[in-house]
Amino acid sequence: MARADFTPADRGELYIGGQWRPARGGGSIAVEDPFTEQVVAHVPAGTPADVDEAVAAAKSAFEPWAALAPSARAEHLSRLHQSLANRSDEIATTVTGELGTPIKVSHRVQTGLPLTVLDGYIRLAKETAQEGEIGNSLILREPIGVVGAITPWNYPLHQVMAKVAAALAAGCTVVLKPSELTPLVAYLLFDAVHEAGLPPGVVNLVPGTGPEVGQAIAGHSDVDMVSFTGSTATGRRISHLAADRIAKVSLELGGKSANVILDDADLARAVKTGVGNAFLNAGQTCTAWTRMLVPAAQYEQACELAVQAAKAYAMGDPFDETTRLGPLVSATQRDRVHGFVQRGRAEGATLLTPDDVPDRGYFVAPTVLADVDPKSTVAQEEIFGPVLAVIPFGDDDEAVAIANDSRYGLAGAVWSGDPDRALAVAKRLRTGAVDVNGGAFNPLAPFGGYKQSGLGRELGVFGLEEFQQVKAVQR
Ligand code: NDP
Repeated sequence: MARADFTPADRGELYIGGQWRPARGGGSIAVEDPFTEQVVAHVPAGTPADVDEAVAAAKSAFEPWAALAPSARAEHLSRLHQSLANRSDEIATTVTGELGTPIKVSHRVQTGLPLTVLDGYIRLAKETAQEGEIGNSLILREPIGVVGAITPWNYPLHQVMAKVAAALAAGCTVVLKPSELTPLVAYLLFDAVHEAGLPPGVVNLVPGTGPEVGQAIAGHSDVDMVSFTGSTATGRRISHLAADRIAKVSLELGGKSANVILDDADLARAVKTGVGNAFLNAGQTCTAWTRMLVPAAQYEQACELAVQAAKAYAMGDPFDETTRLGPLVSATQRDRVHGFVQRGRAEGATLLTPDDVPDRGYFVAPTVLADVDPKSTVAQEEIFGPVLAVIPFGDDDEAVAIANDSRYGLAGAVWSGDPDRALAVAKRLRTGAVDVNGGAFNPLAPFGGYKQSGLGRELGVFGLEEFQQVKAVQR
């Protein structure tokens, strides 16, 4: 796919109750291409009045959708999968255009992963038992109701799919607010929803800003559950709003994950894979291993290997097949990341990599920082850019202590020549996922955070159960 294939049109409508219709307010949101720095399209800025209508549509669609046999819901989702798969190239192009993900990664991750997730929920809807027994009680798994889904820009279709596919499979109905920075791919999803003929009101789209539309969803009295992915600060705000009516909240929040490389590991492989993980999607990945922990005796060698690996991350037009590091999503995000790098240097970190970037586009160069104090800002805050902090440790106990010295706990990695030793360290990490010796991402495994990285789990059967509640019927 080439840049010439990215020709987005303005989208003037919202999708509510199975129909495209104009927003109540007259405002619009400009969508920018972060490489050209040009506005490429507009979408409506939804309002709380639009949220009211979308929630009413989801509420009236709930009972019949929940009453369908799970296999019937799976059939609807299969048609959606087909409609989306037919749009694969357009999805990849759109995410590359509005977010800046290199086109190869867009195909594999931004398009392939959400299709895989949807496929998984089609199978789980058919296979997962909705009933069980405990003594004289019949245990029923029932959908929670109307779900408000609020999603960020970094994996704009995947984050939506992890919520929408699971909620629909469970029998819930949904009102979605995608990120204002990357709304165009959500429009492709709703084109597919419409084409697939999902029952009206089962899933609704209200684009807009967080403070207007997101807040109206999170605080709506008829929204039974809010499923949110984004920053910890916004997650906290949403929790407060939902707490007023005791509505369930599931949160996928930030991370500051540690890549622990033990002294018997294959250092070259661990560093190269670790750099790749930290720089995936220009570092705009909540699970990114942004702290590389290496034995003090191998520190210099690890830093050299990291610098070498960073050199391979060629910056450029994300539509160019040779580009490995695209721009960040916005000028704001670029400036935020630069601010962190400056702060890191002011707090004593050494910049090991060049910081020159292309003339246009919101780039941050692939950045490796050495001599990073584990307590310093760059070792504690989620930066969300291509910035890797390399930190030395003495022994396994110290590595675990540094890894766990974070208010986050989303992901992580351990490398060792001895699988038992690696597993022993993995078990001590206070984090929702750990990859041992490069273990592959599993889209059916539970995904979510310890500590301030979140509440609840997404993906696979754990993600399905998040949208259900249980009833006990005594007989
Ligand atoms: P936010 O958490 O603000 O955005 C995530 C979503 O929440 C967006 O849809 C946003 O809307 C919405 N939102 C914002 N404010 C509210 C509100 N008051 N009520 C309801 N919804 C709201 O993240 P940012 O985009 O501002 O990114 C800032 C930082 O957050 C990043 O630098 C990164 O560190 C972190 N982040 C982490 C992510 C993760 O997956 N862990 C994902 C995204 C960001 P809007 O469209 O207006 O932005």
